[in-house]
Amino acid sequence: MRERILRMKDLSLLLLTCAALSNTLPIYPEKDSKEDVKLVQDYLNRFYAVEPDPNQLGWKINAESTAEKLKKMQEFFGLKVTGKPDTETLEIMKKPRCGVPDVGLYGVTLPGWKKTKLTYRIVNHTPDMSKEDVDKAIQKAFKLWSTVTPLIFTRIHEGIADIMIAFGTKAHGRCPRYFDGPLGILAHAFPPGNGFGGDVHFDEDEDWTTGSAGFNLFLVAAHEFGHALGLSHSNDQRALMFPNYAYISPSEFPLSPDDISGIQSIYGSPPSAPDKRPAIPTLPETCGSQMSFDAITTLRREVIFLKDRHLWRVYPDNSEVERELISTFWPTLPPGTEAAYENTKDQILFFKGNKFWVISGYQVLLGYPKNINTLGFPKGVKKIDAAVCDKQTGKTVFFTGDKYWRFDENSQSMEKGYPRRTVDDFPGISQKIDAVFQQKGLFYFFHGSKQWEFDPTAKKVIREIKSNSWFNC
Ligand SMILES: [Zn+2]
Ligand SMILES: [Zn+2]
Repeated sequence: MRERILRMKDLSLLLLTCAALSNTLPIYPEKDSKEDVKLVQDYLNRFYAVEPDPNQLGWKINAESTAEKLKKMQEFFGLKVTGKPDTETLEIMKKPRCGVPDVGLYGVTLPGWKKTKLTYRIVNHTPDMSKEDVDKAIQKAFKLWSTVTPLIFTRIHEGIADIMIAFGTKAHGRCPRYFDGPLGILAHAFPPGNGFGGDVHFDEDEDWTTGSAGFNLFLVAAHEFGHALGLSHSNDQRALMFPNYAYISPSEFPLSPDDISGIQSIYGSPPSAPDKRPAIPTLPETCGSQMSFDAITTLRREVIFLKDRHLWRVYPDNSEVERELISTFWPTLPPGTEAAYENTKDQILFFKGNKFWVISGYQVLLGYPKNINTLGFPKGVKKIDAAVCDKQTGKTVFFTGDKYWRFDENSQSMEKGYPRRTVDDFPGISQKIDAVFQQKGLFYFFHGSKQWEFDPTAKKVIREIKSNSWFNC
């Protein structure tokens, strides 16, 4: 296969080979081809080589071949996916752009700032523009995002702000990322967090302007602030969060529907527009007496409660609770999942109807959803009500109606002799189960606003509690 041939270490060899093999490709003169090879390698290393590391919640370098990275890049930009550095691809690579990588969905993996009042500080000014024009451009750029969210930005003049804004060249300050001189990378930003988190740096080697010449500071700042608020790059060419620079006339509103739905999935809509608040429509009352859940799963030390479009992350040891939109973590997961469990391999399986999704390291694995028949359920089973994996035995129990099934995680197969009646083996659990999870060896079964603590060894219910006992009500 062509892809296999392309798995080569030396791209210059690849270019020459391709040029020799195929006359559909332009023949690069010797000198240009060397420059292009470097361009391709630098570009892919900068923008397509890092992925979020689920175990560290940081970044790791991925070990994909050049051709694989190139394909990702071509797919992102809507080019013909050839895995070869053709003319169109090279042209895109030469365009001025943002320094933040295109892979690694940190807008999805990190849920944004935990507060709506944010501070910014302009640490230094570019000599390209008047101070007033710089201040105005920055303020206008923040305004874009605050008009579509509940966020409020306040400028401070000293001390540490959430968003520290600075101009620099090449290696600048203590920033872990470098600038590259004129053109190429224009600016970069860090996702929400402490330290460099939220900070925005502009390459002083560019010509910053208020108009269409050089680079419009307002537009680049608005894009970078998107990152500072938690957005990743969009492959929608009309989006402000598209990685390449494009001048937009001041008469146009720079945010596209894609940008707005992206930022609102993190922060919701502005409070001044109560008639159109799609992000948080009916916030379930966690402390209400009628609180019930669709599904509950553990995720390492957290317990995740799911209901409609929301999830709550509960840290039982320090009784912290965080509410998020499910779409903030897993945009491709539907709302209203019916069952969820963490398996023995650090993955979470989500169920809705006869479909299931597998999530590993905050990302939905490719090829999902799959039909639950692939797990060994017969055709008659239309949905799963609740599921839990017993970490001690490696057996997963699936509850459907008043019956349950047992699945062996090691052999990845459904055990014989099931389904059995739930109440026969879980005495005291006679209701249909909404959700179940395991914590410190005990099972917690949920039905409506009730919860039963169950000891699987003694095979008995220890106590009945309210469903929201895990929240600080
Ligand atoms: Zn960017
Ligand atoms: Zn920097």
